[in-house]
Amino acid sequence: MTTNEFRKHVAWLRKNFPIDVPVIVRRYPSKKNHGITHFDGRKFYIRIDSEGDDATQLETLLHEYSHALTINDAYNHKEPWAQNYSKIYTAWESLDGKTTTTLQKF
Ligand SMILES: [Zn+2]
Repeated sequence: MTTNEFRKHVAWLRKNFPIDVPVIVRRYPSKKNHGITHFDGRKFYIRIDSEGDDATQLETLLHEYSHALTINDAYNHKEPWAQNYSKIYTAWESLDGKTTTTLQKF
């Protein structure tokens, strides 16, 4: 996936699920995890492992963006995060009828 393609996905998230604080999204290689989200008190920083295949990178992006969207309870996978993840995933899958298994073709 090119950087431009990746940025389009990020732009789609920003447009459809705006967040009140800045969210910085970057891709670079990581051996530790597919992605991580960190809040420094002012901004969210999302890092996606650029070595993952396209589907993994996209699913990780949706997962991590859900953490940032759950701004007051961002650091776990409890109900508020799960609800946001569900909303994002549902909207994503409704794009031209795409499903999880065809994410990499988007
Ligand atoms: Zn998570």
